[in-house]
Amino acid sequence: MYNKLSSKAEEFIDHQEILDSIAWADENRDNKELINSLIERAEDCKGLTHREALLLLSCEDEELVEKMYALAKRIKKAFYGNRIVMFAPLYLSNYCVNGCVYCPYHGKNRTIPRKKLSQEEIIKEVTALQDMGHKRLALEAGEHPTMNPIEYILESIKTIYGIKHKNGAIRRVNVNIAATTVENYRKLKEAGIGTYILFQETYHKTDYEKLHPTGPKSDYAYHTEAMDRAMQGGIDDVGIGVLFGLERYRYDFTGLLMHAEHLEAKYGCGPHTISVPRLCPADDIDTKDFDNTISDEIFQKIVAVIRIAVPYTGMIISTRESQKSREKVLELGVSQISGGSRTSVGGYTTVERHNETSQFDVSDQRSLNEVIEWLLDLGYIPSFCTACYREGRTGDRFMSLVKKGQIANCCQPNALMTLKEYAEDYATPEVKEKIYKLIDKEILNVTNPNIRRIAIENLKKIADGERDFRF
Ligand code: SAM
Repeated sequence: MYNKLSSKAEEFIDHQEILDSIAWADENRDNKELINSLIERAEDCKGLTHREALLLLSCEDEELVEKMYALAKRIKKAFYGNRIVMFAPLYLSNYCVNGCVYCPYHGKNRTIPRKKLSQEEIIKEVTALQDMGHKRLALEAGEHPTMNPIEYILESIKTIYGIKHKNGAIRRVNVNIAATTVENYRKLKEAGIGTYILFQETYHKTDYEKLHPTGPKSDYAYHTEAMDRAMQGGIDDVGIGVLFGLERYRYDFTGLLMHAEHLEAKYGCGPHTISVPRLCPADDIDTKDFDNTISDEIFQKIVAVIRIAVPYTGMIISTRESQKSREKVLELGVSQISGGSRTSVGGYTTVERHNETSQFDVSDQRSLNEVIEWLLDLGYIPSFCTACYREGRTGDRFMSLVKKGQIANCCQPNALMTLKEYAEDYATPEVKEKIYKLIDKEILNVTNPNIRRIAIENLKKIADGERDFRF
């Protein structure tokens, strides 16, 4: 029985409720009046239910789809302005005991060289990331009880926060590691992580079990209930996602929104972020072996409808996506992107762009400076802000600020101040010029006069060498 307040995976992600939602959406996909009324209602930025969102996703009427896109863009603008938060993944270890059939790290892969970074190697990688200008990382690791135990992850986090090279600093470490215990989540929280990220891959239990035939990850309920344990362990910023291309996208899209509804209903706080990775080719993985891959058009529609359905949730895409695809989804809803990424263990200190230990093939191979310039040319403000969780604005405190539209008073000046730091310390002269021009223009959009005055003072102090201001 579907029960969004239940702690059991199969009740808050109820298979029959997803099938019924799909059948309902199919019955109503040509009901223009109903779809139109939902789009109009969503204008209030209060979101939509999983069923309503699925109906929008199922609609193929061109005029209505255009209307959805226009609404998604307006919501994006209202909550995030033109700011885009930057991050980089850091692959710690590709040792893994799981058997995920789509991932090259799977335990039976004998062709991929296995590598785990030592603390000395982490210092080198993070120094290279700091020298690019990054302030926010997402740690990635395979699941291996003896090679990558929680103690290794905790030690690595401590190492990373401790590295201060020139003006560099990693100020927020997000963590994407396998589902674990409440006790381990508590330890991660105590280590000062930002968001705990875990992708569901697919919400379809039977297919999940086929895609994860061996290893701890094969336990569907344990994996699906991970965010509940994370919340119990005190982590209130969690990031969910599915790997699009594994299961029929409408099923997973519905499951994803049901998961968000469950977290919101049970813990008073929905997911901090939603990621929308798409399956990519990798070492021994051929995407042709998966018959559910989705087109760019459907991908864009997924992003737009997520934006409409959960306006308060950050949305992330990685360098799995090409420059062209990234450009489109940025305007439709994505608020965080990675730049200059390496998806191989030790990839930031090796010269070549492609490395044989990669988790997936990077589609967008540009440097961070190139990505920043591209964003500036498109009219965005690249932001290296990490202020919220450092100011205690996490979980429901963060959400209530976002829902009241208050967060912009902090985000806009924080984005400009951290971008100014990037300009002073890392940008090429051409990019620096573009940043200065943008700051002069965008500082006027800080509406609160007091905050604007302080931000202008801080921008001057940054030019004089001071760092790390935040609201
Ligand atoms: N080991 C942890 C786990 O299994 O959840 C987290 C790290 S894993 C390195 C990060 C994510 O990469 C996975 O959750 C999966 O969605 C994604 N991934 C795996 N294989 C991929 C592929 N071939 N293409 C794109 N993304 C992939």
